Amino acid sequence: MAGRVAIPPMTEEGNRAVLPLGFVRGLLDTIEKPLMVAERNGNLLLINTRAKQFLESHGHPTTPGLNLFKDLLKTDARKIFDEFEKGEHDLEHPIQIGGAKSGARVRWMPEPDWLVVEIENTTETPSGPDPATQITVQELLQEREITYRNLLAAYLKLQEVNRQKTVFLASAAHELKTPLAVIKGYYDLLLAGSLGRLTDKQRDILEESKDSCERLVRLVSMFLNYSALESGKLVLQLRENDLRDCLDELSKRWVEAFQRKSVRLDASFDPSIPTFRFDYQKVQQAAANLLDNALKHTPRGGSVTLRAAPHFWERRVAVLAPVEERRRFRLPRPNSVEVSVTDSGPGIAAEHHQEIFEDFVRVDRNTSGMGLGLAIAKRLIQAHRGKIWVESESRTGSRFTFLLPMDQG
Ligand code: ADP
Repeated sequence: MAGRVAIPPMTEEGNRAVLPLGFVRGLLDTIEKPLMVAERNGNLLLINTRAKQFLESHGHPTTPGLNLFKDLLKTDARKIFDEFEKGEHDLEHPIQIGGAKSGARVRWMPEPDWLVVEIENTTETPSGPDPATQITVQELLQEREITYRNLLAAYLKLQEVNRQKTVFLASAAHELKTPLAVIKGYYDLLLAGSLGRLTDKQRDILEESKDSCERLVRLVSMFLNYSALESGKLVLQLRENDLRDCLDELSKRWVEAFQRKSVRLDASFDPSIPTFRFDYQKVQQAAANLLDNALKHTPRGGSVTLRAAPHFWERRVAVLAPVEERRRFRLPRPNSVEVSVTDSGPGIAAEHHQEIFEDFVRVDRNTSGMGLGLAIAKRLIQAHRGKIWVESESRTGSRFTFLLPMDQG
C-alpha cells in the first residue's frame, strides 16, 4: 500500500547522492513482496516487513549478522558473482528457509554494489510425517481387513454360541413335554372321578393345579415353536383350507378356559370368506397366541372378540372383479382375510406397540409368559406374506389384527 512518501534530503558520499537507509527501509516496506538488500559479502543491510514475516514464520530469526549466502541461499558468494560477471545482473536461485523451499530473484546493483533479493514463491516443502511413523495406505488397508475378519469371526462365534443355547433350551423343553403330558393326564383322570369321588375342596385344588399345568405346557410348546422357527425350520404346509373351520375349532378349544375366568368370548366369522391356501396349524397357532394374551390380560367379567372377515388389502395386487360385482361393491374384490382379537383389558401404551412383537419382550411383568407369543405370531403371519399389528391405548383394551393374503403361491 504505497502512500505519498516525503523524500528526505540526499547526502553526498564522494560524488554520489545517497538516500538515508531508514528512508530506503520505509520505501521497501511499501512493497508487497518479500525483499532483502545485502552487501557484496552477503551481510543483510535491509529487510522489508514482508520478508521479515516470511522468515520468522518459517522459524528463521532475523537476527543481526544474518548472511545471505551462508544462511539463505546456501551457496558461495563467488558462484553468484561469477554469474554476474558473465554479464547477467539478474538471476534465479533457490532459497531454503526452515521447511520452506522458495525461489529467489537476485539482482546486482553494481553502483552501490548491493544485492537485492526478492523471495518469489512461498510454496511449502511437502514435509510429510516422519517416515519411521508413516503408515502407508497399504498398511491401513491390511489393518482394516484384519479388523473386519476378526469382527466376522467374533460374530460367527457368537451366532454359534447362541444357536447352541437355543438347541440346549429346546432339548430341555422337549424333555419337559412328556412328564407334563403325563401329569395333565392324571389330573384329567382324577377330575373325571375315575380314581374315586372328590370333595369340592379337592376338586378346586385339582382344577387350579391343572390350569397351572396347562400353562406350563403352553410355555414349553411356545418355546419349542420359537426354537423351531429360530433354527430355520419354518416350512409352511400350504393347503386349500377353510379359515372359519380353523378359527372355530380354536375358539371351541378355548371356551372352557374363558368360562373358568368368567371372561366372555364372542367369535364371529364372515360366511363369505372363501377357502384359500394357508397353513392351518400355523395360522391357528398365531390366533391362539392372541387369544391366550387376551384372556391373560382381560380381568374377570371382561370380554374378548375373535373376528374374521374378507378384506381388500391395497398394498397387494387387486384382482379385477367381474363387472356386476364391481357395480354391487364399491371396493375391489377382497384379496385377504382380516382376523382380529379385541379385548377389554388394560390396553398397551403406544410406545410399546412395536417392541412387543420382538423376541423375549415383555411389558406386563404381573402375568406369566416368556415374551414370545407375539414374536412367534408375527413370524408365522409374515411367513404367509401377511402382517400383524396392534391398536390400543392404555386403559381402553387392545385390538390385535393380522391380514392373511388369499393369493398364497
Ligand atoms: P408374553 O405374553 O409371554 O409376555 P407376548 O409376546 O405374548 O409375551 O406379549 C408381549 C407383551 O405384550 C406382554 O408382556 C404384554 O405386556 C403385552 N401384551 C400382549 N398382549 C396383550 C393384551 N392383549 N393386552 C395387554 N398387553 C398385552
